[in-house]
Amino acid sequence: MSNSNMERGAFVASSKIVDTIAVIGLGLIGGSFAKALKEAGAARRVIGFDRRPEELSVGLSIGVIDEAAQTLKQAVLDADVVVLAVPVRAVEDVLGQIKYDFKPGAILTDVGSVKGCFVGAVERIFQGVDEANRPVVVPGHPIAGSEKSGVAAADATLFANHKVILTPLSEQNPEAVEVIRSLWSCCGSTVLEMGVDHHDDVLAATSHLPHLIAFSLVDTLAGEGDSKEIFKYAAGGFRDFTRIAASDPVMWSDIFLSNSDSTLKVLDHFADDLATLREAIANQDSKTLLGVFTRAKAARDHFSKILSGQAYTTIMNTKNVVFKMKSGGEVQGVIRVAGDKSMSHRSIMLGSLADGVTEVEGFLEGEDSLATLQAFRDMGVVIEGPDEGRVKIYGVGVNGLKKPPGPIYLGNSGTGMRLFAGLLSGQSFDTELTGDESLSKRPMERVAAPLRLMGAVIETGDQGRPPMKIKGNSQLKGTHYDMPMASAQVKSCLLLAGLYADGETSVTEPAPTRDHTERMLNGFGYSVKREGATASLVGGGSLTATKIDVPADISSAAFFLVAASITPGAHLTLKHVGMNPTRVGVINILRAMGGHIEISNESEVGGEPVADLTVSYRPLKGINIPEDQVPLAIDEFPVLFIAAVCAEGKTVLTGAEELRVKESDRIQVMADGLKAVGVDTLVTADGIEIVGSEIAGGVVDSHGDHRIAMAFAVASLRAKGEIVINDCANVATSFPNFEALAKQVGMQISVEHE
Ligand code: NAP
Repeated sequence: MSNSNMERGAFVASSKIVDTIAVIGLGLIGGSFAKALKEAGAARRVIGFDRRPEELSVGLSIGVIDEAAQTLKQAVLDADVVVLAVPVRAVEDVLGQIKYDFKPGAILTDVGSVKGCFVGAVERIFQGVDEANRPVVVPGHPIAGSEKSGVAAADATLFANHKVILTPLSEQNPEAVEVIRSLWSCCGSTVLEMGVDHHDDVLAATSHLPHLIAFSLVDTLAGEGDSKEIFKYAAGGFRDFTRIAASDPVMWSDIFLSNSDSTLKVLDHFADDLATLREAIANQDSKTLLGVFTRAKAARDHFSKILSGQAYTTIMNTKNVVFKMKSGGEVQGVIRVAGDKSMSHRSIMLGSLADGVTEVEGFLEGEDSLATLQAFRDMGVVIEGPDEGRVKIYGVGVNGLKKPPGPIYLGNSGTGMRLFAGLLSGQSFDTELTGDESLSKRPMERVAAPLRLMGAVIETGDQGRPPMKIKGNSQLKGTHYDMPMASAQVKSCLLLAGLYADGETSVTEPAPTRDHTERMLNGFGYSVKREGATASLVGGGSLTATKIDVPADISSAAFFLVAASITPGAHLTLKHVGMNPTRVGVINILRAMGGHIEISNESEVGGEPVADLTVSYRPLKGINIPEDQVPLAIDEFPVLFIAAVCAEGKTVLTGAEELRVKESDRIQVMADGLKAVGVDTLVTADGIEIVGSEIAGGVVDSHGDHRIAMAFAVASLRAKGEIVINDCANVATSFPNFEALAKQVGMQISVEHE
């Protein structure tokens, strides 16, 4: 329709009031829409038409419509918006009867559950009609309803808090779309837009197939000889699962016949999967059954989290989590902090590649390691759990991974993405790695470039950032690589690629970095040699499943080490902390500043040293942080900066440019945050200078960086006023129970979700 036609329409889009609306097909959906529009005052006049006069009388008597039209033509002639709410297979017949009757500028919309057939019918019917006399068509579908039918069941609240999908056509007038959008908004619906084919595919999978299965299951059971017995003993699960089998049979047979292509596609897929389950039961194949059930459970749990707004994707994109920290507080007691993130990641990776079943305890159930776990499930690995830190991985062997169904989403996890890049370079299938907004800004060429030297075929996105596209079937060859920067992630990435390379892969680091990958590979029986600054392995070997008790993460412990070190009177014991020599920089630096940390109960777990740490308050002094300690404390600097603010004199950090490409530019973001709480610092290219001073309090932006958020939470122990920290949702990525432990030791934290 032309703009002039739109202008002649009697509705006023901006005020969301339409003069006259005609609803054709006054059943459950048409009646409910009419009622909701009338109650919202969105139309001056609602005319109804139905082929059953008794439905119209009921509609009039219960106030669903203002007028009942005697004929289809009479209903349409005067209407600014015509709503077709008849069964999908009746659309073409109804439209054929009124194709010349629309008033100029009218909008035609519908509520049908299938969009392709509506759009097809519209094209066929209006082909010969002069363009000026055609209505503007805006296909729609409310994702709400019930098993009831008929106008007597009309409910004005049926669509409130439900979605409505519009599938506007490409040549559509946007004003018309806006009118229909505002009508549904008046009913309390959330309006989305998508393409016609996409709508029909999505609905085939999420609505049509489940209805088919429910009808079929109840029919099958009802046909069993002892059906009465079955229904008598059917428990709540059966009732819930088959509720939709009470839906209107005519409407549903219409829907399947109208959306046959999309439904058949997903039905065939389902039939294949059902056949696999049948075979697994017949063959007593528990591994296949467990695989399907654990994947389904994980997907359903994730789906429930999405629905309640708790999954990482939703939290990170939509919720501002705010830490409100009262000034002062205590740090006392005995705690065990969350499991080590690096080891949790690697236990899943190596357990998946091993032969046999690997059992993990103390697994960190943070979003990053859960993303890794899900990625391996998507690549065909059966993983039970996590259940209170316990995970059981049914390894598939070094060459047993399968192509995932889509891109692998790694949330906020830079470690995950860099390690996966190495591992996936050696597979026989193509993969794509993606992440959230923050991960999508981080540099990936540092792994992509050396992997290419080994023969990998990798594309990175804009400026070498995610997504990473990795080609399968590249024959990797062992190479020596001198790392230009000290990065455990780059080293680990290359060693994991080396598992798939011909010959030896060796990596030399300019300064010591974390060696969890090497230690854990050894723990899985895969030999990694260490000579000076060079780690190497020979490709083509295999890994053997093992047991792993993940130690508490020293990076998480660091917040409490600093908290106790800066709080007068503090005395705190941290149990079972991982003491990998490449990670203990925070202890060395705090001790050099005068901190009092005692180490006891030293032991070794899965090749990794572990100990209890007891910290008591001592006044700290500023130091020049030795550069050789920088890689050993790289993640701990945000909270070490807080220690420096609480120390007497100047602390100088150099050689730490790596900090600028972490989850945030940690030097600048910390300096900005410190300024916001009244502390001036001097930022340098590769570090910072901090002179001990008073912390006033104020509002800090963590820039979505979990370690910045927790560092400022610790700062509150010595602040004069309240510290409010914005954008803290990502704390869940590394330290899911930070709030609980902070409260337990005596910090005054409250967490708000805005
Ligand atoms: P309904 O309660 O049976 O209402 C449909 C009404 O349209 C009935 O009164 C029906 O009369 C009438 N009708 C059928 N053919 C007609 C024709 N040629 N001319 C005039 N009126 C005619 O069904 P509904 O549940 O409201 O469904 C209507 C539409 O909404 C369908 O396209 C369906 O796909 C869609 N929808 C339904 C739901 C749901 O959960 N129910 C949810 C979303 C979308 P008869 O009874 O004589 O056939």
